Amino acid sequence: SLSEKLQNVFKNLRGKGKLSEADVKLALREVKMALLEADVNFKVVKNFVNSVQERAIGQEVMTSLTPGQMVVKIVNEEMVKLMGDETTELTLKPGSEITVIMMCGLQGAGKTTTIAKLAGKFKAKGKKPLLVACDIYRPAAVDQLQINGEKQGVPVFAMGTNHKPVNIAKAAMEHAAKNGNNIVIIDTAGRLHIDEDMMDELIEIKENIHIDHVILTVDAMTGQDAVNVAETFNEKIGITGVILTKLDGDTRGGAALSIRAVTGKPILYIGMGEKLSDLEQFYPDRMASRILGMGDVLTLIDKVQAEIDEDKAKELERKIKKAEFDFNDYLDQMQQMKKMGGIQKLVEMLPGGMGGMGSKANMKDIDWDEGENALKGIEAIIYSMTKEERRNPDLLNPSRKKRIADGAGVDISEVNRVVKQFGETRKMMKQFSGMLGGKNKKKFRM
Ligand code: GDP
Ligand code: MG
Repeated sequence: SLSEKLQNVFKNLRGKGKLSEADVKLALREVKMALLEADVNFKVVKNFVNSVQERAIGQEVMTSLTPGQMVVKIVNEEMVKLMGDETTELTLKPGSEITVIMMCGLQGAGKTTTIAKLAGKFKAKGKKPLLVACDIYRPAAVDQLQINGEKQGVPVFAMGTNHKPVNIAKAAMEHAAKNGNNIVIIDTAGRLHIDEDMMDELIEIKENIHIDHVILTVDAMTGQDAVNVAETFNEKIGITGVILTKLDGDTRGGAALSIRAVTGKPILYIGMGEKLSDLEQFYPDRMASRILGMGDVLTLIDKVQAEIDEDKAKELERKIKKAEFDFNDYLDQMQQMKKMGGIQKLVEMLPGGMGGMGSKANMKDIDWDEGENALKGIEAIIYSMTKEERRNPDLLNPSRKKRIADGAGVDISEVNRVVKQFGETRKMMKQFSGMLGGKNKKKFRM
C-alpha cells in the first residue's frame, strides 16, 4: 500500500545534521513513485515533490527527530496543504430558510446512499430535510431513496418516473415551503460515463432553482478517474464541494490527495461504508496521517514542535524586552505566521472588538494578496542578508545594502526602508514591553 511504501522510503534516510540534497532527492524519487502508483494525478505529484524538495533540502533536522522523521514531517505538512489545510463545513441557512443541495455524480458513485447519510446528520442537528427523487430513469432508484428515507425517518418527495427532473424539483420546493422543511436534497440520475444529457439535465435544474450547494459524489476506488470526473463536472456545471465515497475499501488514496488541487473545490465528507451512519467529516490532517500511515511519528513530531514553539516564545519575549529582537527573529515570526495560515487568518482570529480590526465588515476591503506580497518582499530582503547582518543590522553599510538589494532584486531604497522601519519597530517594542507591568506579563505573547 501507499503507506507501506512511504514508510520504507523514510526508514532508509539516516544520518544527522542537515538534510542533504542527495538524501532528499533519493527519498523523493521513491515518494513520487509511490504517489503515482497510488493514482495521484501526475501534475499534482510533480508540484508536490517540488515543494517538499524545496523545503527539505538544507533543512536543519530538529533535535529528537531523525532525518527520516524530518522528511515525514515536511511531506505530511505539504499533504495537508494539498488537501486544503482545514475542514470545510457545509454551510446551512439559519432557521426556516431553505438550503438546497443538489447531489450529482456518475451511476454507482453513492449519491443516493450519501443523501440518506447526510439527511441523518442534518436531522440530528435539528434540521428538517426533504429528499427529492429526481433519478427517473430507473424505477428502483426512486424506491431506493424512499427506503433509505424511511430508515432515517426523513420524508421523501417523489413523482414517479414520468415527469422531467426540473419539474419534480420545482414541485419539491413548493412542498418543502409548505411543510416546513429547511433543507432540500435533490437526488439526480447518474450515467456510467460523463454524458451530455446528464449534464444538461443538471444544468436545467440549476438554472431553474436556486441551488446553494452542488455536491459531487465520487467513488474513491476509481482513482484518477474520480479526479477527471470531478474536473469535468466542475467545468460543466460548477460544483461547490465533493464527497468521496468508498474510502473504507482498499482504495489507493490518490483521489483524496488530488481532487482539491485539480478542481480547487474542497472535500466535505468521506463515505466509510455502506451503513447509513458511515459518513465522516473530512479532515485534511487526519487524511494525511492515514495516507502516510505513520501515526506514531506524527505524534512525536507534534510534541517536538510544541516544545520548540514554547521555547521560542519565551526567548522572544526576553529579546523584545532587551531590544535584542533581530531580523532572524523576524523571519521566525513570519514562519510562525505562515504556519497559522497567513495574515488574514491571524487578523480573523482577533476579536471584533479590538478596534474593529477583526470584524468582517472591515476586512472586506483589505487586499490580502497585496499584504502577503509586501511581506514576501521584506522576506526576500532579509533572506539576502547574511546571518550576521540579520543579527546586527548596524553592520548594514551602503555597500552591504547594495549587495542585499541586488540579491533580493529590489532597489536599494527598499532595503533602506525595511531597515529603517525595523529599527523603529524595535524601539517601539522596547517601550511597549516597558509599559507592561508585572501583572500583565502573561498576556503579552507574540
Ligand atoms: P448512486 O448510483 O450514485 O445513487 O449510488 P448508490 O447510492 O446507489 O450506491 C451504489 C453502491 O455503493 C451501493 O451498493 C452502496 O451501498 C455503495 N456505497 C455507497 N457509499 C459507500 C461507501 O462509502 N462505502 C462502501 N463500501 N459502499 C458504499
Ligand atoms: Mg442513485
